Amino acid sequence: MEDVIYLDHASTTPTDPEVLEAMLPWFTEGFGNPSTVYSLGLSSARAIARARETVAQIISAEPEEIYFTSGGTESDNWALVGAVDAQSKKGKHIITSSIEHHAVLETAEYLEKHGHEVTKVSVDGGGLVDPEDVRRAIRPDTVLVSIMHANNEVGTIEPIAEIGKITREAGVLFHTDAVQTAGKIPLDVNELGVDMLSMSAHKFYGPKGAGLMYLRKKTRVSPLFHGGGQERGRRAGTHNVPGIVGLAKALELTVGRMADDAARETELRDRLWVGLESSIEAVYLNGHPTPRLANNLNVRLDGIEGESMILMLDMEGICVSSGSACTTGSLEPSHVLLALGIPKENAHGSLRLTLGRSTTIEHVEHFLRVFPPIVNRLREMSPIWCANCACKQRN
Ligand code: PLP
Repeated sequence: MEDVIYLDHASTTPTDPEVLEAMLPWFTEGFGNPSTVYSLGLSSARAIARARETVAQIISAEPEEIYFTSGGTESDNWALVGAVDAQSKKGKHIITSSIEHHAVLETAEYLEKHGHEVTKVSVDGGGLVDPEDVRRAIRPDTVLVSIMHANNEVGTIEPIAEIGKITREAGVLFHTDAVQTAGKIPLDVNELGVDMLSMSAHKFYGPKGAGLMYLRKKTRVSPLFHGGGQERGRRAGTHNVPGIVGLAKALELTVGRMADDAARETELRDRLWVGLESSIEAVYLNGHPTPRLANNLNVRLDGIEGESMILMLDMEGICVSSGSACTTGSLEPSHVLLALGIPKENAHGSLRLTLGRSTTIEHVEHFLRVFPPIVNRLREMSPIWCANCACKQRN
């Protein structure tokens, strides 16, 4: 694995060794169930309480507003299903955007099948939601607005604080999926004006299978999981103590180095983009150039399939993604790129490069040496490149 150049940090990140070290005792000597009342269990409960305080402080919340979950998917499902269930008397309408992660979109579709109404606000060519579109979509029977903080494919950062003002004025609950922003940009739940917020530890150098939901006090949301009384009766299931400890440690460490990491990643990402633009014909940036995550570069290349690029880069020991990792395996064009108005064939020819702590300038320069010949080889074999581009240029 040592020689791998990993450019897929939006998909997942390696667990920080310091995080792993903090987690390990909670698998072995500290194995007690935190719901028990003897000392062994109480020490696990105290570890969870400390983790809750750490996380709460980082996002300007109260510890009682933090609920540990199994990750982003569970938190997103809980936000939508829980909010509509608790407010069934008020109405059945929810608002989301066309570029949400599948964890939100599929849940919205599930709710639609069960009699709810969903409005998906569209985005502009850069992937930005217009807050005024959200305002216009709100109705007396709207029970929830769910708009992601930053998109996982193109990295566009949404105007969450502006939308938060609108939902507050309208008295409608507001959820944001902050899975891609936690540890990358500052998060303050009060400045953002959100009632619910999802996070997932494996996106910020923590363990997989650990996440959280911020739930503002007095927010009317039903539990998704029923069973024991864990998490103040709102999220049943024995606590994942090592995962919770790891999540808090990972967030603390990531936030501590956030500004430096963002500056370094921006520089590397910009070098990558300039290098690609200068060495490859017909390459375009997907997403917004400015309100964008520092580590994200999503490009489209005329005349090639994303999957072939991924496979050829993999043979060179380089890991990249052609869209959301959760849809890899399906050759459907990315719903996000289509929502940005990118034609189907160009969406297919898109590549997502997401940088992280392990990325060095040597990685970037190596990629810039290896990638253009791959593009040339694939274009030579491509009937679409020939038909749409090269032949036309020759004429
Ligand atoms: N939301 C976003 C924006 C994501 O990028 C992801 C994962 O890719 C998820 C939700 C799902 O999170 P998890 O993998 O923790 O279930």
